[in-house]
Amino acid sequence: MTSKILVLPGDGIGPEIVAEALKVLNVFKDEGSLAFELEHAHIGGSAYDAEGKPYPESTQALAKKADAILLGAVGGAKYDKLERSLRPERGLLAIRSDLGLYANLRPAILYEELANASSLKPELVANLDIMIVRELTGDIYFGQPRGIEVLPSGERRGFNTMVYTESEIRRIAKTGFETAQKRNKKLCSVDKANVLEATELWREIVTEMSKDYPDVELSHMYVDNAAMQLVRAPKQFDVIVTGNIFGDILSDAAAMLTGSIGMLPSASLNESSVGMYEPIHGSAPDIAGKGIANPLATILSVAMMLRYSLNAPQLAERIEGAVKRVLSQGIRTGDIYTEGCQHVGTAQMGDAVVAALRA
Ligand code: NAD
Repeated sequence: MTSKILVLPGDGIGPEIVAEALKVLNVFKDEGSLAFELEHAHIGGSAYDAEGKPYPESTQALAKKADAILLGAVGGAKYDKLERSLRPERGLLAIRSDLGLYANLRPAILYEELANASSLKPELVANLDIMIVRELTGDIYFGQPRGIEVLPSGERRGFNTMVYTESEIRRIAKTGFETAQKRNKKLCSVDKANVLEATELWREIVTEMSKDYPDVELSHMYVDNAAMQLVRAPKQFDVIVTGNIFGDILSDAAAMLTGSIGMLPSASLNESSVGMYEPIHGSAPDIAGKGIANPLATILSVAMMLRYSLNAPQLAERIEGAVKRVLSQGIRTGDIYTEGCQHVGTAQMGDAVVAALRA
């Protein structure tokens, strides 16, 4: 079967890092181990420049037909003054909700070779391997009513609504349990059930569902404690499943444990395993166009794409192995550089991964 992959380079360093990820993907095409067709389209600021909106119909039509989407990053200062609905980040929210990408998988992996890059002591984080499963299309980010109103007193009042339906909780919990089954079989569900009714329901349903997954050890943790435990003893976690806002915050904290925003991939999946794959970092306007961005998060996003949407886990492992070998050879972009290593740019890092894959 020939898979359709939509490529959305986006803004800032997006095009530079996506180009390296495509070099890696093309290794598999050249050797005949993966059949795919690529389509390219705009999203974010580049889409606004080309078509006047951050998620144009032309992109939407291609996205609906794709088996998987590879995205660079969106955003840039020149778009910050646009009306809210036209800003690049709106393009991301729109494509996520359009494709029903409700399950966001964010691994926080710390390669042994980079243990010194973390802000925590190396022994607390060496070989860290956590998967955060964050619900992505519900919660307070989408709940109605929302807005800013003027009270009769003249004072303004801002408000949002935290809301989860039973079915939304069930489908993300299922992703959490199934992800744990493929790993070390430990699932920690994070909520604030002592204060928020929406997450009281969350806890009730996750607990009920655990009967269907007797091989998975389920625990519950309040979000404030989870934040503390993540920086105290992060290796206690295997898989964390949580709602949109808690997941947003916890996954950034977990990412920083690894010390290198340029290393971490992510996947956002819908019910039919169509997925959008992107690095967790943004468009890094401060280094865009300089050829120095780290492309490894995007290359590792391709590995996730192979595993979760294209059913090629063995190719995913080959990419992850190649990245590990490149790191153990001491090859580093600036963001992960330490003395004595070989300092390379974006394209050289991509070439090094390609060479390791071909070796
Ligand atoms: P950022 O992640 O773009 O950059 C933060 C810092 O990390 C910068 O110093 C940057 O140079 C560095 N950095 C990021 N990726 C790197 C890489 N691959 N290699 C080396 N260094 C890297 O976050 P920001 O500066 O807060 O945001 C910049 C823009 O990106 C904003 O417009 C923001 O809205 C947008 N953004 C987009 C996404 C996304 O597309 N998913 C996510 C976050 C932020």
